[in-house]
Amino acid sequence: MIQAFAFNSHPARVVFGEGTIASLGDEVRRAECRRAFVLSTREQTGMANRVEKILGELAAGSFHGAVMHTPTDVTESALVQARSCNADCIVSVGGGSTTGLGKAIALRTDLPQIVVPTTYAGSEMTPILGETRDGVKTTQRSLKVLPETVIYDVDLTLSLPAGLSATSGINAMAHAVEALYARDGNPVVSLMAEESLASLARSLPLIVKNPQDRSARSDAFYGAWLAGSCLGLVGMALHHKLCHVLGGTFNLPHAETHTVVLPYALAFNASAAPEAAARIAKAISVSDPAAGLHDLARRLGAPTSLKALGMPEDGIERACELAVRDPYWNPRPFDRNDIHSLLKQAYAGAKPTGH
Ligand code: NAD
Repeated sequence: MIQAFAFNSHPARVVFGEGTIASLGDEVRRAECRRAFVLSTREQTGMANRVEKILGELAAGSFHGAVMHTPTDVTESALVQARSCNADCIVSVGGGSTTGLGKAIALRTDLPQIVVPTTYAGSEMTPILGETRDGVKTTQRSLKVLPETVIYDVDLTLSLPAGLSATSGINAMAHAVEALYARDGNPVVSLMAEESLASLARSLPLIVKNPQDRSARSDAFYGAWLAGSCLGLVGMALHHKLCHVLGGTFNLPHAETHTVVLPYALAFNASAAPEAAARIAKAISVSDPAAGLHDLARRLGAPTSLKALGMPEDGIERACELAVRDPYWNPRPFDRNDIHSLLKQAYAGAKPTGH
């Protein structure tokens, strides 16, 4: 029997393939825009310059200062430039940091966004924006920040270094894992999540071996699109809460933190979500899904302990306090002791036990 469900879909247009960036001009015109404002990080200035060339006369200006966590002062600077060149749309070229800046501008201006993702983080498919003001990060959901068009061009991911490909890919898997036991989950999102996990589990080892493997890159990007869609469509649970707390409190790197925490959060939740655990195991072809994800991270050469990410051991107490304050819904209820033992294991990189 199918459980009763509600299914929302989001109105994004997605273009996927190799060389799809060539269609950017058509996509800008399709959105009825003529003056695109191109965003990137400083590191991806070269890629953004190439995109501006493709846009030709449709390029109105650019800003190459996107940074992690979307600080509002950076948004204000970009906004001044976007306004001064009369931009009528935003083209964000990059990972979650650049997409976040585009969303923050869209929130303030209602300008349409065309996002060209280059990592597996998935922000391009969500109506979620996290912003930092005076060092405090807050997250909001609004359809105003949901991008209108997303162009996935596999070619643009070939330069993503092996290490970041591994952690960014597991960051995507975390969205799919939590979608399978989401409180508001539904059969369609579960199908997307399973397909996403299978694509990423088989492609990431190939990418780490050879970052130029186009077929594996295509598989991983497809999995990342599906995972981002899951993140945008259903609510997340303990894993995302813990990563939010750890990233925000100890300034730990985003994708790496997801990579370390995921096996422990899943080991903790598996007994309360046996069907999801079984579907995850099947998708990644292992018998124990938490151990399987831990092994995958190790095989990819990714970090597997919070200690390796530079978290102070005495920070565990503070993290426990924050994790039980305003907790997200989770399939398995938890208290401070549960979080303490979970984080102690994650700190050491021990075998995830779920106790
Ligand atoms: P990122 O965007 O910070 O990118 C990391 C680094 O890699 C940057 O220097 C970037 O320029 C570089 N890079 C990206 N793609 C590259 C490529 N193809 N080749 C070479 N270099 C490349 O990292 P991220 O993990 O994609 O994003 C993390 C941020 O996104 C966090 O702030 C996180 O909170 C946010 N995020 C938000 C959502 C959401 O739904 N709102 C979802 C996921 C992540």
